[in-house]
Amino acid sequence: MTGTPTSEVPMVHADRVSKSFGSLEVLKSISLTVNRGEVLCLVGPSGSGKSTFLRCINHLERVDAGRLIVDGELIGYVERGDRLYEMHPREAARQRRDIGMVFQRFNLFPHMTAVENVAEAPIRVKGMKKDDAYARARELLARVGLASRADAYPAHLSGGQQQRVAIARALAMEPKLMLFDEPTSALDPELVGEVLQVMKQLAESGMTMIVVTHEMGFAREVADSLVFMDGGVVVESGDPREVLSNPQHQRTRSFLSKVL
Ligand code: ADP
Ligand code: MG
Repeated sequence: MTGTPTSEVPMVHADRVSKSFGSLEVLKSISLTVNRGEVLCLVGPSGSGKSTFLRCINHLERVDAGRLIVDGELIGYVERGDRLYEMHPREAARQRRDIGMVFQRFNLFPHMTAVENVAEAPIRVKGMKKDDAYARARELLARVGLASRADAYPAHLSGGQQQRVAIARALAMEPKLMLFDEPTSALDPELVGEVLQVMKQLAESGMTMIVVTHEMGFAREVADSLVFMDGGVVVESGDPREVLSNPQHQRTRSFLSKVL
């Protein structure tokens, strides 16, 4: 231990992270930092590696080279001397528990009500008492504006409501980091705002977030930094207002002209 105060250790530090699928190099030496309490928007064309990057942070993929460090801990590996060894699955599961992820598709359990969906992991994974988990789940549903829909099944909720349940479900595990992979892309346009509003509140509450999105209004208003990726590399990054109003690279300009 170096004695660095925890508050100064970034929440996420990617140092030259690379990842291939067979001969296809999807991430090519990605470096970025997300400080505690900050929101980073990751944007870029389809196929640029955004989902793969998030999936590496959340142990759904394994990096081939470079280091991914969350809250001061190497993700998925243990360092001994100058060598890296794969982490014990139990340790990997522990790291994963602290990271919440929300996907494009809502992925709720269809046979469970909203409150059951939110309480499930705290009961099963954390061994929380049922009554406590349900009480907490109702609080979280209230926080995402769904107090009155707690006993509804997913099929009876709109896409925007389902996605808000998915956010509450991720929050139930008390993550230190939230990852969002195009959380509004599958929604009807009129339902996008309510989900972005919940995400904005979450950001204001101090949650550290990485958000893959095409919602540039959200990036401009909520994000502390914006990273533009294309073809597996970081093309440019910086203050979102700066990057959006004054992109330095042709690839960024071309992408923005399509989504703005
Ligand atoms: P994005 O989220 O930016 O659209 P992805 O990270 O999903 O990009 O994908 C980047 C590239 O990696 C794409 O060419 C995709 O087809 C490929 N890819 C993603 N996952 C896999 C996988 N499991 N096996 C093989 N190729 C993959
Ligand atoms: Mg993707």
